[in-house]
Amino acid sequence: MFEKILIANRGEIAVRIIRACREMGIKTLAVYSEADATSMHVQLADEAICIGPAASSESYLKIDRIISAAEVGDVDAIHPGFGFLAENAHFAEVCENCNIKFIGPRSSVIKMMGDKAVARETARKAGIPIVPGSDGPISNEQDAVKLAKKIGYPVIVKAVGGGGGRGMRIAHNDVSLVKGFHTARTEAERAFSNPAVYLEKYIELPRHIEIQILGDQKGRVLHLFERECSIQRRHQKLVEESPSPALDENMRKHITRAAVRIAEKVEYTNAGTVEFLLDAKGNFYFIEMNTRIQVEHPVTEEAVGVDIVKEQIRIAAGEPLTLEQRDIRLMCHAIECRVNAEDPANDFRPCPGRIESYYCPGGHGVRVDSHCYAGYTIPPTYDSMIAKVIAFGHDRRAAIDRMSRALSEFSIQGVKTTIPLQRAIMQDPDFRRGRYSTGFIDHFLGTKQIEPVESEA
Ligand code: ADP
Repeated sequence: MFEKILIANRGEIAVRIIRACREMGIKTLAVYSEADATSMHVQLADEAICIGPAASSESYLKIDRIISAAEVGDVDAIHPGFGFLAENAHFAEVCENCNIKFIGPRSSVIKMMGDKAVARETARKAGIPIVPGSDGPISNEQDAVKLAKKIGYPVIVKAVGGGGGRGMRIAHNDVSLVKGFHTARTEAERAFSNPAVYLEKYIELPRHIEIQILGDQKGRVLHLFERECSIQRRHQKLVEESPSPALDENMRKHITRAAVRIAEKVEYTNAGTVEFLLDAKGNFYFIEMNTRIQVEHPVTEEAVGVDIVKEQIRIAAGEPLTLEQRDIRLMCHAIECRVNAEDPANDFRPCPGRIESYYCPGGHGVRVDSHCYAGYTIPPTYDSMIAKVIAFGHDRRAAIDRMSRALSEFSIQGVKTTIPLQRAIMQDPDFRRGRYSTGFIDHFLGTKQIEPVESEA
């Protein structure tokens, strides 16, 4: 087993990884930017090295500085968390070349699945249904229009290198497609340094269902069932749950098998997520594979009782999976609400600043993953997620009631947060019935006024 791990990340995921390491008796080395000197991950790690100024391009994305820190700190492995360098194949390759274990899949697999057009093709070859669309990237607007005529509007233009909901444009006719083609390319070039885009049929009001998988270095792949992540704003997830209220046992069997098949096909190692869209008729289609730990992994951890971060570390150290598929069961219902420092009453404007007071909920069946504390100043430089509240119970209703209770206790003074929105979602009759799709939030925000409160006590 590893003796020391460098965590190439910040915020709650860095804290989450440090906690797993500590329980496993592994030492931790945090890296941080000048803006994060007082951050929780720096305080909790055994050692910490400053790697540069606030801008992530000068710190958390600087491969040479992270590798230097790894060498100075004499670590055996690097955990990339999510975001930043987690899906950067070059970074994984540099780690491989420097003899530092990258806690994730091989760089070649990250590269393959990081190109969403190649991932589509890989899924198709594995016999997995994909959304009707282009074979590979589309190079000009004429081809885009021709293909859209064939598959029928609406369509969605998506960035080959995409992630985080960026570089996507929905089009309902030729004019909006031509415009969307160019804006998606420009956005993709800016965000991912790769302007390539591809086309998919736009599935109306689908549900987003994803399967958590684990693969060891001996070639064994397991799944940890599904998460439903259809509560999204601008293609960004806000609420996730497991199991999905949309799947029956038969659908669950088929979709989990499809996810395992694609992972086996690419000889996947470590934790990964295979994402699908489910249409109103119950058909599912592969959309992408994420080759890293996901923000919403705690939902699965609580639903099936497996510590995914520890599994990642064991797999990277070369240990075989000790779990058997038949032993992995959905034992309870778990829900996660992402708490962002944003003002839902003001078009979700980011609200960085000092947290004056902070009271975090607890009690039976509640878990909060966060790096925040009273007196902490949320820097404006990074993403606005400041906490994840996970509530679980014997069934969906119990989990929702527990989440409502937990959110009502959560008190953050000093910055505005999305807690009032999350509380309102938990009370929504359609959400409570499990009848929702990715169109939920647009409809919900159109009919509900979220009160501009600073905190909830
Ligand atoms: P990203 O990698 O940026 O997260 P995804 O391909 O995972 O992009 O898609 C994110 C979300 O965008 C999906 O969960 C879904 O809500 C929406 N989406 C993507 N592709 C389609 C499609 N073909 N039809 C309808 N919605 C889509």
